[in-house]
Amino acid sequence: MSVRDIIILGCSSQQPTRFRNHGAYLVRWNNEGLLFDPGEGTQRQFIFADVAPPTVTRIFISHFHGDHCLGLGSMLMRLNLDKVTHPIHCYYPASGQRYFERLRYCCIYKENIHVVEHPVKKAGLVEDDGKFRIEAAFLDHGVENIGWRITEPDTVKFHKEELKKLGIDGPIIRKLEEEGKICWNDRWVHIDEVSHVRPGDAFAYVVDTRPCKEAIELALGAKVLLCESTYLDEDRAMADEYRHMTAKQAALIAKEAGVKTLILTHFSARYRDPEVLGEEARTVFPNTLVAEDLRRFPFPK
Ligand SMILES: [Zn+2]
Ligand SMILES: [Zn+2]
Repeated sequence: MSVRDIIILGCSSQQPTRFRNHGAYLVRWNNEGLLFDPGEGTQRQFIFADVAPPTVTRIFISHFHGDHCLGLGSMLMRLNLDKVTHPIHCYYPASGQRYFERLRYCCIYKENIHVVEHPVKKAGLVEDDGKFRIEAAFLDHGVENIGWRITEPDTVKFHKEELKKLGIDGPIIRKLEEEGKICWNDRWVHIDEVSHVRPGDAFAYVVDTRPCKEAIELALGAKVLLCESTYLDEDRAMADEYRHMTAKQAALIAKEAGVKTLILTHFSARYRDPEVLGEEARTVFPNTLVAEDLRRFPFPK
């Protein structure tokens, strides 16, 4: 099975600190690399994380505040330097097209990579290419800012014992999967007699927003919600003013959406140890983890 994990390349908010780089998150999933919001210095964080940049197949930009996109140009140039041959799909708010282009062509370089632009104009389904279903929602941040929900396809899980009882194996199983039923020993065997459907997992990404119903909808039943928690609840007035969230508010979203795991990120520089934000969130949503630069979180099936 291919590797499935979430690598934190940075977890600061607007201002990086000695311990936290600008945000950037790599989700390695079903032989792809989904990179979210490459902030400044992301290229170098790949080296520290011991991950080869060509792992990246898709780049998601939530919005065009600097901490979420300043590393886009250098990441694309790095992929160019590495001569990647697969397309790089980029998803971002359509209203930021000029910022996307400026970042993409901010300096001299000869572009050889194949960048596929996906400017997103409206909420809902962005793309379903059979590998991932990508959905977008506009959040509450004062500028157009997209939260993402990525879902893998459902898969069929065969019951080995049932197959064995019927004497079905090898290429016959594939035929059954393709055709839905096969004639076997003078009777029809239907796929649902010997299998069940395993719903694909969902990953939700919500940063830079006040709490809103769109964030909850995006995260409904997700396996993992990677969510901002810029402030502690004692600083809620500031969170509200700058259209961000507190750790407690992030936990309430996770709880209401019924996610399995919440990972907090996008921490204000005022908190030296973001574990305090984790403690606050766990009072509402116990299965809360706290991002840390270069930390890897498993994303098991
Ligand atoms: Zn931010
Ligand atoms: Zn922002």
